[in-house]
Amino acid sequence: MTYQGLIHHYRQYLDLPAHTRTITLLEGNTPLIPMPRLGRDLGCELFVKFEGLNPTGSFKDRGMTAAISEAAGRGAKTVICASTGNTAASAAAYAARAGLRCIVLIPEGKVAVGKLAGAVAYGAEVIQIQGSFDDALSLVVEITQKTPIALVNSINPYRIEGQKTSSFEICDALGSAPDWLCLPVGNAGNITAYWAGFKQYQKGLPQILGVQAEGAAPLVLGHPVEKPETVATAIRIGKPARGEQALEAAHESKGRIIAVSDAQILDAQKILAAEGVWVEPASAAGVAGLVAETGSGAFEAKGGRVVVVCTGHGMKDPSIIAESFKAPRVIPADYQTLFESIGG
Ligand SMILES: *Cc1c(COP(=O)(O)O)cnc(C)c1O
Repeated sequence: MTYQGLIHHYRQYLDLPAHTRTITLLEGNTPLIPMPRLGRDLGCELFVKFEGLNPTGSFKDRGMTAAISEAAGRGAKTVICASTGNTAASAAAYAARAGLRCIVLIPEGKVAVGKLAGAVAYGAEVIQIQGSFDDALSLVVEITQKTPIALVNSINPYRIEGQKTSSFEICDALGSAPDWLCLPVGNAGNITAYWAGFKQYQKGLPQILGVQAEGAAPLVLGHPVEKPETVATAIRIGKPARGEQALEAAHESKGRIIAVSDAQILDAQKILAAEGVWVEPASAAGVAGLVAETGSGAFEAKGGRVVVVCTGHGMKDPSIIAESFKAPRVIPADYQTLFESIGG
């Protein structure tokens, strides 16, 4: 039968209330792409779970189909979220689909153009806060406690329910859980969801490598970061809402959470693109972490099966690339010049 979205596909595994009215854009069912060249270099059997191929270009759609379906079914008229960008685009799309009003709060001046454009295109009301993501999140929590507006950030438990399905898909594709799962960690909803998913599905448990950016690494430092800074805007978060659960997932899985530099993240973005997978900077953090760990020589994943979660598409943040490339050469429209200029 044709695919009808992840709620329909995995309904029996999802703890969603009876009033849930499914709102779907056929999210999920993303490819698990083998990366033979990079895998050979790193000494493992490597796959990328390419979550950038969800309807709005990031994994946020998995959680959003669940959160909006629950809110719509309960009769909510308005949803709100704080966002570094991808949550905003996703909330906006699913709210539009459900016919709900959507308000998104973003930190001032720090949101990638492809994400903001998405939120606007889907008709959300976008408000910039003179503050960080963490400030924006505090505000949406307060307003949803005092008004009937529904909160769709990943502290909403249904977001986690939806996001668990990626673990199920990985197990279904491979036949069992991989040895290691590497992924970026920002507000820590996703690492929480993956771990819950693997535990529930009972097809084995991976060790989890969570990766933060050095300038926004509260879970590595052991304390909140007042002014998080990183080129990887989707994980530019100083006070992760599910930080405790992230540490628990790393610990229980016998994995860890590490930090990598912006330079390592941008390198990893290039490495992935060189094998045909273009992701936004934050999404490359998992690979950056894997490269750093395998480089250290002592990494247990050697020879094992590794899945790296690439959370969002490269087209979300084109300016990162556009700022760094030289303008294309300009030549006359003539065959001989073309032939010579490509070293014919
Ligand atoms: C939201 C997001 C993350 C971080 O996920 P958390 O659940 O906040 O840890 C990473 N990468 C991308 C592309 C995102 O949109």
